[in-house]
Amino acid sequence: MIVHGDQLDAASAAFDGFERDADAVLMMEVIEEASYVPQHKTRLALFFSAMRHFRDDLDEKGFRVHYAALEDPNNRGDFASEIARWANKTRPEKLVVVEPGDHRVRELDRAAARETGVELEIREDLHFIASHSDFDEFAEGRQNLVMEYFYRPLRKRTGYLMEGEGPAGGEWNYDSENRDSFGKDGPGDIKAPRRFRTDDVTDGVLRMVSDRFADSPGKLDAFDYPVTREQARQALRDFVEHRLADFGRYQDAIAVGHPYLYHSRLSAVLNLHLLDPREAIEAAIDAYEDGDAPLNSVEGFVRQILGWREYVRGIYWREMPDYLDRNALDAELEMPEFMWTGDTEMNCVRDSVGQLVEHAYAHHIQRLMVLGLFAMLLGVRPRAVHDWHMSMYADAVDWVSAPNVIGMSQYGDGGLVGSKPYAASGNYIDKMSDYCAGCRYNPKNATGDDACPFTTLYWDFLSRNRNRLKGNRRMGFQFKNLDRKDDGERRAIRRAADEVKSRFA
Ligand SMILES: Cc1cc2nc3c(=O)[nH]c(=O)nc-3n(C[C@H](O)[C@H](O)[C@H](O)COP(=O)(O)OP(=O)(O)OC[C@H]3O[C@@H](n4cnc5c(N)ncnc54)[C@H](O)[C@@H]3O)c2cc1C
Ligand code: SF4
Repeated sequence: MIVHGDQLDAASAAFDGFERDADAVLMMEVIEEASYVPQHKTRLALFFSAMRHFRDDLDEKGFRVHYAALEDPNNRGDFASEIARWANKTRPEKLVVVEPGDHRVRELDRAAARETGVELEIREDLHFIASHSDFDEFAEGRQNLVMEYFYRPLRKRTGYLMEGEGPAGGEWNYDSENRDSFGKDGPGDIKAPRRFRTDDVTDGVLRMVSDRFADSPGKLDAFDYPVTREQARQALRDFVEHRLADFGRYQDAIAVGHPYLYHSRLSAVLNLHLLDPREAIEAAIDAYEDGDAPLNSVEGFVRQILGWREYVRGIYWREMPDYLDRNALDAELEMPEFMWTGDTEMNCVRDSVGQLVEHAYAHHIQRLMVLGLFAMLLGVRPRAVHDWHMSMYADAVDWVSAPNVIGMSQYGDGGLVGSKPYAASGNYIDKMSDYCAGCRYNPKNATGDDACPFTTLYWDFLSRNRNRLKGNRRMGFQFKNLDRKDDGERRAIRRAADEVKSRFA
């Protein structure tokens, strides 16, 4: 039986019918996966440490585990060769795997099985609440795959936040209560996510990653991620106790120097399957029922996991394999160098990338309305943005990164995930954050010495994509504002945008 690095749950379907006397588990650390795109050191350490802890846990429970460590001189470096090496040694009757979270890896497993001549059984991943056929049923015959209409039936089916036939509190959605920013006084004291001290296993991994991946992006010094199931559950309790109550209200807010605010930082452990999404949802609902968190926060959190998380996975498997190369706006540039280092005068980008370099984490609004927005306005290829994302974030797994990056943030899928591009100028960032006050640029200006690159590129983006997007009624207001600019202003913006692109791209 094969257990990939994002499938770390002994209760998963792969273990159904497992006979300890006859069956064995195969786990593989392979250099191909650690380098097919450059990988943040923290991301590598998280995966390897969580895998090694899981291996030790299985060992203790009496499972036979074949573990291909990266340092093992016999390790052949890719899944197919490692599966073949193991199959030659143990002559299994059959290979069993839960569906991988990456289409590419599923195809690699299939190819390995073909090459070794061993039957492969791919089992459904029961960590997700909606199956592929649930999603297909929702999508069939619909022109617009609006998340809300996928989410509501799931609420009904699971009974989460339901009162009889209707939604708790009478509304399905409390988004209008979830848009506050922090104002002049800033966010104040917010308890940061619980930090987990490293143990011998993690220390060994950190040494190995610093030695072997010295040229990889990101840093390792602040590594404090949960790496076991028990730690993942502690991280969930910590979030519910200290941050859930204000999660909703400040869901869209940004504050300089505050990487986590009221967010949970649970995505990585959810995606590695150290935590089940049902556990996270139910813990939040318990807090609501006990009167410890208001409905707008709890519904907001449930919507992210039961709604968005399940929805993007449905999109991924329905649209792959060509989804990764969709490029509806014909964007052609590569990611600028400073997106790897944070070395830029743009305060918002510097702070968000700086955080990424340190923690391999940025919260949703930084991903969407700072880093993703900048890449889209500049005109970076959606696939290049996705690859960069897979490199830089601890929680990046193909099924969740691709629809969020290529669809939601870059509009590469032409409106499948988002009904319009999330295009905004520096004024939006100024409204939702305290970034602009400390920046050398002025978010109001599109031209001139202190022109904010976001604002310059925003107007340029609208001009460049006018023909493509003019039929989108949700963009009418933005185009009307563009029309208010006279020819001279537009020419000046075009020149300023060309100058920004030549500097950054
Ligand atoms: C451009 C872009 C790229 C993204 N790439 C990833 C990715 O590679 N991996 C990933 O897990 N999430 C991704 N997301 C979704 C979301 O931003 C992260 O899940 C979230 O920021 C993780 O931080 P958190 O655990 O503190 O989340 P919280 O804000 O505390 O939210 C709670 C949970 O809801 C889920 N969630 C929230 N929004 C989404 C969403 N849009 N899609 C799927 N799940 C969601 C996550 O599991 C998250 O842990 C991306 C979003 C954008 C805009
Ligand atoms: S002025 Fe522009 S570049 Fe500077 S922080 Fe604001 S939005 Fe970012």
